[in-house]
Amino acid sequence: MLSLRKHWFSLVRLCDVLHVAGRRSRSSGVNVKYDYDLIVIGGGSGGLACSKEASQLGKKVAVLDFVSSSPKGNAWGLGGTCVNVGCIPKKLMHQASLLGQSVKDASHYGWNVQGDTIDHSWESLVMSIQNHIKSLNFGHRVQLKEKNVEYYNAKGSFVDSHTVLARHENGDEVSLSAEHIVIAVGGRPHYPTNVQGSHEHGITSDDLFFYSKPPGKTLVIGGSYVALECAGILAGLGCPAHLMIRSHPLKAFDRDMVNLVMSSLRGHGVQILSHCEPQSIERGSNGRLDVVWRDEASQTCRDQFDTVLFATGRQASTWALELPRVGVAMDTPTGKVLVDERDTTSVDNIHAIGDAAYGRWELTPVAVKAGKLLARRLFEGSNVLMNYETVPTTVFTPLEFASVGLSEEEAVSRYGNERVEVYHAFYRPLEYYLPHRDSSQCYIKMVCEAVDTERVLGLHLLGPNAGEVLQGFSTAINAGLTRDQLHGTIGIHPTCAEEVVRLHITKSSGADPTLTAC
Ligand code: FAD
Ligand code: NDP
Repeated sequence: MLSLRKHWFSLVRLCDVLHVAGRRSRSSGVNVKYDYDLIVIGGGSGGLACSKEASQLGKKVAVLDFVSSSPKGNAWGLGGTCVNVGCIPKKLMHQASLLGQSVKDASHYGWNVQGDTIDHSWESLVMSIQNHIKSLNFGHRVQLKEKNVEYYNAKGSFVDSHTVLARHENGDEVSLSAEHIVIAVGGRPHYPTNVQGSHEHGITSDDLFFYSKPPGKTLVIGGSYVALECAGILAGLGCPAHLMIRSHPLKAFDRDMVNLVMSSLRGHGVQILSHCEPQSIERGSNGRLDVVWRDEASQTCRDQFDTVLFATGRQASTWALELPRVGVAMDTPTGKVLVDERDTTSVDNIHAIGDAAYGRWELTPVAVKAGKLLARRLFEGSNVLMNYETVPTTVFTPLEFASVGLSEEEAVSRYGNERVEVYHAFYRPLEYYLPHRDSSQCYIKMVCEAVDTERVLGLHLLGPNAGEVLQGFSTAINAGLTRDQLHGTIGIHPTCAEEVVRLHITKSSGADPTLTAC
């Protein structure tokens, strides 16, 4: 009897192995219980990085990526938000807008630019950007193939904690199992439900980069990264841009810096409607959009626009995953997945990274790094955790704003006023002199701990190429940079970056922080 039972179990086990082996095109040779060692749901910044890293560690990996069309009907290829409707098209449009300014400056440098008006073709910009994106989509597919990651262009949802249902666009379904599953589904723009006509008449950043004609007079609603960047780009490309903010812009950042960002946007021609709340949008008889809003004094105001762009935040794309079925805990309002410091959810073998994970910076390099480190922890025995503390970031407004570490307000609340010293300077980039460009918002603020060698707690820059400038300093700050060390650093002349190492005026001294050129 015992021997019969033993044979029966061996037979079941054999069938299990054969079934899995049949499905596998490549075997890691370790995991015989599941189809894969790892399934990643979401082929964006985080998901691609995690899946490729795991595969390089010898694991059998599948990645599922599926893009649902925006309410305006736009959809795109593999690579996620950053590649298709985020960082990449945004930065290229930012560059287009900066070039417009450079063309205006050029005559001051001896270039013969005909006339005062320069012409820009929105259509050719969009076409070039879309062509570039298509090459990136293709590149991602090739990379997955080269790295032996199996790619399913299918929407994933959980069947149980180890099984995912992959649903292709044509309705075909396949059930896949894995030891570990990573949720990397990112997010999508959120339309406010309390603004009548928002869905019907508004667009979002998921549509702007596909727009076939110049958006014309545009109302951008929102007060954070996406809103400020889009408003700056549109103004730079010659579209009258209005920015409607209901509370405070860029809430998480240093207030002095934010005030200067807003004044630089105004200087670039963006009309700012502060403390205003949108109420409704209707299409008028002339085809334009009638927008009604309430201003700071609760007065009802209205104006007509050609385009209304909602940049009112993003919602995690977790709604289709059937997370309650497997007991993965979520934050209800945002739809984000709750994770611990190892990026693991309330279910041991299910993890979440990137924009879909609760309490994380919504930035591409953060998602990428988290994905790689997670793969190493799962499959290499690593214990290295993601450092979510000192994350550098840049808001690509026409005058870029880059920031790392604590704002002055955060530093004071954490360490107390007496233990915080702030160094600051208004500076004039050399390249602004010949065209007589306004530099009144070019400003640097460094927040230090006012003890011993003065550890740098935060650095905030407003100026041309601020993102490029801050990257290196952020490495130094992560490594424990002090003001003494910075002071001992030789500057590179003549650059904007050298103004950081020259910082010597403290805010507490009350001295004029305006630097003079050498
Ligand atoms: P995503 O890149 O969003 O990828 C998730 C993928 O999963 C998507 O392809 C999605 O379609 C897919 N998916 C969703 N549900 C499913 C499912 N059920 N099954 C299968 N697939 C699914 N960050 C920066 O660092 N710098 C910038 O300059 C910058 N600019 C930005 C500009 C804009 C306009 C926006 C909107 C964002 C910008 N970001 C920027 C943020 C950055 O794009 C995101 O932080 C990053 O893309 C998040 O990566 P992710 O892997 O978490 O998600
Ligand atoms: P955020 O969630 O950062 O901000 C949403 C904004 O919309 C807030 O200003 C909010 O105002 C406003 N808002 C929300 N609802 C309404 C409403 N009903 N009416 C009017 N205003 C409303 O969203 P973003 O989409 O700008 O950015 C998302 C994330 O994407 C960022 O946090 C960033 O990490 C990432 N990103 C990064 C970029 C970069 O690195 N350069 C560029 C773009 C995005 P209130 O504060 O009053 O709630």
